[in-house]
Amino acid sequence: MTNQFTEKLSTQASTSLLSLAISPARVIRGCGVLQRLGEAIAHLGKRPLIVGGDRTLAMSETHLQPVLEQQQLEFAQASYGTDCSEASLKYLRKAAKEHQADMIIGIGGGKALDTAKLVAHQLQLPVVTIPTSGATCAAWTALSNVYSEQGAFLYDVPLDTCPDLLILDYDIVKTAPEYTLVAGIGDAIAKWYEASVSSGDSEQTLIIAAVQQARVLRDILFQKSAMALKQPGSEAWREVVDATVLLAGVIGGLGGAQCRTVAAHAVHNGLTHVCGGKSIHGEKVSYGILVQLRLEEMVAGNKLAAAARQQLLKFYTEIGLPQKLADLGLGNITLQELQTAAQISLAPHSDIHRLPFQVALEQLMAAMVSTTAPIETKETINILSTRGINKEGEEAQE
Ligand SMILES: [Zn+2]
Repeated sequence: MTNQFTEKLSTQASTSLLSLAISPARVIRGCGVLQRLGEAIAHLGKRPLIVGGDRTLAMSETHLQPVLEQQQLEFAQASYGTDCSEASLKYLRKAAKEHQADMIIGIGGGKALDTAKLVAHQLQLPVVTIPTSGATCAAWTALSNVYSEQGAFLYDVPLDTCPDLLILDYDIVKTAPEYTLVAGIGDAIAKWYEASVSSGDSEQTLIIAAVQQARVLRDILFQKSAMALKQPGSEAWREVVDATVLLAGVIGGLGGAQCRTVAAHAVHNGLTHVCGGKSIHGEKVSYGILVQLRLEEMVAGNKLAAAARQQLLKFYTEIGLPQKLADLGLGNITLQELQTAAQISLAPHSDIHRLPFQVALEQLMAAMVSTTAPIETKETINILSTRGINKEGEEAQE
């Protein structure tokens, strides 16, 4: 583990100093665009290996394979299995070599695309990403997250470049279950809550731009998400998909390795060690934003964080994002499991330490079980008591 982390840190240092990976070389979006893009794909290679999950590989048979056949490409396909794990990466590198693949096509959600990008990076092959949901910006970014086979987050790997071609076909994304886009909205708004804390004081041009874009992204999602979810395929829905799949990726690209995640993703990482696949990435991250704000509120006495948490709780109710552990299927979590998740979130290398204050294990555990607590500042208690009302909202007896 130590070696992986040291390797990761040195790679990050070198990529952030020397090169920028801001955007895919080419992004093509629209309704039904995949059918028309055989030539653009064929331009990158003749023997693609298609990497996806079981559901998305079935989808590739009807949506992608005919396009490749038309171009007379010799394709093979392989499943990433249960996660973007070292075992599946090894299996896919072998599959790519056996097929003599000269390009990788990733089709699916975040895990499928992360796996496809990392296999391509390891074999130095071009990669095409075709997202099948709006759940993440993985189709865009030069980063892959590696998990254990049980779904526990292990480490991330910065890649040399963003994908060579990103194909965002709204007709395909529209077939994904609604909760995937909801989760993508949560993951995308996390960019603001985390980037403003980790990089809000940066003097660097591109990082200032990334933080401001994160605020714009959050505002677009506040305004359009509810409408978009009511009408999949509508203009508002396409704008929201652009926000979660593309703009979230732009922010990752502009901000680079220094514009890091903070507590929301650290809490996500900790939770993956106790709940594996009970909820998807963006769902855990959304809950993690509330934990982060709760920490800012409890440990640092930040009143803006308290107000932001109340604002988010309203938004979460409106669109159906998880607000507490029970909403993540963890209503019966034991104290021991909660402590394990908190300990992993607080590991020495964790991004949680980018918070401007120290967090103790007990404080994190308290924040994790009180994400929906009402604001209880001295002021509100004072206001209530001057009106003769006790904390439970009852009129005090004279
Ligand atoms: Zn994320």
